[in-house]
Amino acid sequence: METRTNGPASRPSRSLVVAGAGIPGLALALALKQAHGPALDVTVCDPGLPLGGARQRGRAYAVAAGGRHLFERLGIWARIASAVQPITDMVVSDSRLADPIRPVFLTFAQEEEEAGQGKGQGAAEDGPFAHMVEAEPLLDALIAAAREAGITLEAAGVARAVPERGTIRARLTDGRRLAAALVVASDGANSRLREAARIGWVGWTYPQSGIVATIAHARDHGGRAYEHFLPSGPFAILPLARRDRPGGSLGHRSSIVWTERSADVATLLGGGPDEVLAEIERRFSPDLGEIALESGPSAHPLAFGMARAFRAERLALLGDAAHVIHPLAGQGLNLGLTSAAVLAEAVTEALRLGMDPGGEDVLRRYERARRFDTLAMAATTDGLNRLFSNDVLPVRLARDLGLGLVDRMPGLKRFFIGEAAGFRGSRPRLMRGEAL
Ligand SMILES: Cc1cc2nc3c(=O)[nH]c(=O)nc-3n(C[C@H](O)[C@H](O)[C@H](O)COP(=O)(O)OP(=O)(O)OC[C@H]3O[C@@H](n4cnc5c(N)ncnc54)[C@H](O)[C@@H]3O)c2cc1C
Repeated sequence: METRTNGPASRPSRSLVVAGAGIPGLALALALKQAHGPALDVTVCDPGLPLGGARQRGRAYAVAAGGRHLFERLGIWARIASAVQPITDMVVSDSRLADPIRPVFLTFAQEEEEAGQGKGQGAAEDGPFAHMVEAEPLLDALIAAAREAGITLEAAGVARAVPERGTIRARLTDGRRLAAALVVASDGANSRLREAARIGWVGWTYPQSGIVATIAHARDHGGRAYEHFLPSGPFAILPLARRDRPGGSLGHRSSIVWTERSADVATLLGGGPDEVLAEIERRFSPDLGEIALESGPSAHPLAFGMARAFRAERLALLGDAAHVIHPLAGQGLNLGLTSAAVLAEAVTEALRLGMDPGGEDVLRRYERARRFDTLAMAATTDGLNRLFSNDVLPVRLARDLGLGLVDRMPGLKRFFIGEAAGFRGSRPRLMRGEAL
């Protein structure tokens, strides 16, 4: 039997359904509920909700400065203070695995980051260009804040969403139905709602996988991140907040994102824990001393994908449902967070003007603001991967010269830092630390 879950006093024209409780979907729901309170009904549906943040245990993301401002504004940053580590310094090197030394071509330090962000143009721009944030506490904090704000959380998927006479009807996987003004499909790269709305997808898989693990190490990372370009793909060491263990000596931790040819992953990870650790050690920074595996490794096949449109009637695509990019620059989630902030702003303005929050104007404005920036970032990361993930000598020489040049030209370097911090292109209010 089919039931409605909006309840007797439901107001489809003042209701929003978010399909997918990933980080961008929850951030959007929370931003809108905090801004509009009882004037807007917000429901988030995800079959994985009962697991909370444990869905992403062992994962960590580089969150750019814009994302930090968003989480500060939502009251999330203070809740996750112990799971957050500023990246104060970054070293980029390029060599073959067997090379005895790894020449450093590019370095970023804290002072340069501040210059790149235009320090002095407002308090919101102070601080490092990125922080490493652990996914499990972040998701748990978002879910707790969503509950406190009065968002309805449904542990079911959205199977379909059909626009119908000024509203959109979402059918949940357990048969219930919800009516809303707008459905946001933040249901991941294989978005069922994107397919059901017949929105095209341009994409391909890379012959690479991203291996993710958390490494405990003997020495302090001091906030330094490393990106070591190898012919099979980059090996990134990203600093995590220290977590002291009772009686343990290895309280220092980093997350690795190790890109390898997918065809080699089974061999590399197929041995016992000692063999896997030895493979990591061959690539890891000797500066950090003795290492141990804290969690993982898990391998994620890498892909590129871009939706042909970010909207359909009363439907907006958000996060990986709209775009999937190579993780080498750590920007996929950041794109999704910027989109969440833009969509929250467009919906808020419509509500304040007494207009339809799921209307075409709102969705057109959202798409216009996000399509170009997203495409530009996707193309950049794809190009960087093609440039670096190979061992062709002239290409190696050209890229190493290019990196060396960037390192010696402060203006160019500031530009790249600003790009990584999310300070180029459209900057919605929440990403500047301002209220909606
Ligand atoms: C190796 C690797 C490293 C990365 N590192 C970084 C980084 O450092 N920084 C960064 O910015 N980005 C990074 N990314 C990208 C980042 O992981 C993604 O962009 C981000 O997780 C996308 O979030 P999402 O919520 O859109 O999708 P997902 O995290 O896939 O979440 C989708 C959610 O939708 C739910 N769902 C599925 N179907 C339905 C349905 N029908 N109805 C309702 N719910 C549904 C799922 O249960 C899930 O909870 C990395 C990616 C990889 C592969």
